[in-house]
Amino acid sequence: MAVERRTTQLLVLGAGPGGYAAAFRAADLGLDVTLVDPEPAPGGVCLHRGCIPSKALLHVATLIEDARRASAMGVDFGEPKIDLERLRAFKDDVVGRLTGGLAQLCKARGVSYLQGRGRLLDARSAHVDCVQARRIEIRFEHAVLATGSRPVTPESLRLDSPRVMTSSGALALAERPSDLLVVGGGYIGLELGTVYAALGSRVTVVEATDSLLPGVDRDLVRVLARTLESRLAAVHLSTEVAELSIDGDSLQARLRSNDGERNERFDAVLVAVGRRPNSSGLGLEETQIEIDERGFVRVDEARRTAEPSILAIGDLCGEPMLAHKATHEGLVAAEVAAGRPAAFEPQAIPAVVFTDPEIAWCGMTEEDARAAGIEVKAARFPWQASGRALTLGRSDGLTKLIVDAASERIVGVAVVGPGAGELIGEATLAIEMGATTTDLAATVHAHPTLSETLMEAAEAFHGRSLHYRRSPARDRRR
Ligand code: NAD
Repeated sequence: MAVERRTTQLLVLGAGPGGYAAAFRAADLGLDVTLVDPEPAPGGVCLHRGCIPSKALLHVATLIEDARRASAMGVDFGEPKIDLERLRAFKDDVVGRLTGGLAQLCKARGVSYLQGRGRLLDARSAHVDCVQARRIEIRFEHAVLATGSRPVTPESLRLDSPRVMTSSGALALAERPSDLLVVGGGYIGLELGTVYAALGSRVTVVEATDSLLPGVDRDLVRVLARTLESRLAAVHLSTEVAELSIDGDSLQARLRSNDGERNERFDAVLVAVGRRPNSSGLGLEETQIEIDERGFVRVDEARRTAEPSILAIGDLCGEPMLAHKATHEGLVAAEVAAGRPAAFEPQAIPAVVFTDPEIAWCGMTEEDARAAGIEVKAARFPWQASGRALTLGRSDGLTKLIVDAASERIVGVAVVGPGAGELIGEATLAIEMGATTTDLAATVHAHPTLSETLMEAAEAFHGRSLHYRRSPARDRRR
């Protein structure tokens, strides 16, 4: 194979929300940038097979459920007719427009985009095997590694069948199985389980721990679990899927719990038991870069690895594995590569589970605060007391503040309810700006909106919410 040689100031491996952000910002700062990814256009898992296609489908799921809910308001639409081909076309069009737009932005900035896979040769060079069977050897001043993560499939759940899917397969929406088993009650299992349930599949979620969304505030999960009860065929907690096997036309799952083992049959299975970093095959061993026991690349606050010329960002270097965290790290890495002082030190990173209702949180949970030895108080505002929530027919939400008892600064916020993912933006800004409950309570919020629940929760902290009479002392005892 003929080898072409090039030089670049910044080489970015991986064009997801972290990698393309790093490349674009570096180009804006005047660097000559080369961006490498196996996909024909930038976007990474998030745009091609993750956040964006799943949100397009979740929007449709919400539409279907909202139409059903309208019956209680005197409007009947009847059962939906679902045309999978047109639904796929809608999703693919959204993805195509966004990735196409990124390709144009790449060009407009003069970022050189190579479709292929890169591998480090040493601390200053890499080769890229491009799709057109050509190899390019690139010398660089700095490199940013942004190769992301991939789904984990344990050996016992690996089957050579298109009906055993990871999130990518489930998003392709090849068919609508009558009975779908979702292994894992985390982000992906619940989001995609919700989509298939809305499209008419009977969905069973099996979760190994004793709660859905382990690690997420129980007050929030309880609200979601109530809704899921009516949408899903079954939720089995403290149950593990020990093995999958092919059984004629269907798949058999061996479920293991404290009560023993049993077999259940399904038409298809979605395995969503976590993700692992793409740190192998990158040539890290040719450099001084260190990885931890889970395969995450070790970085400092500037996103520098142990190799001074190489930075790493996003899922590759640790939790939380979220697109927006990767983007901000990418901006920091670009600044550092351009010789500017920068660090990734956010006070709070929001997380959103786009189920119906949505769950969103940022900053500390009560448990985090306890572990850090910080005395906190929680203030709650249930959405039964929100005029806006009632007009939407959605009084099932809850807004909760975690407040530093000594300073009254807001250190964490958790919201469950429709639109929680939008509300968490204001909460994240409040924490980032060091706002106290008095600041939040004194900020005029538009009426009638769900954002008032944040203000009212701050008022509830001081025992003076206009629309909710529960005292903070009673709240604390819950
Ligand atoms: P996850 O870690 O959120 O959930 C996996 C779940 O599977 C856990 O609850 C675990 O207890 C359970 N589990 C593991 N083995 C099992 C078994 N054999 N049987 C039954 N249950 C089992 O992982 P995920 O849902 O695959 O998501 C991966 C990552 O992707 C998340 O950590 C998140 O960072 C990211 N993500 C984010 C979003 C979002 O921001 N909305 C959406 C999807 C994914």
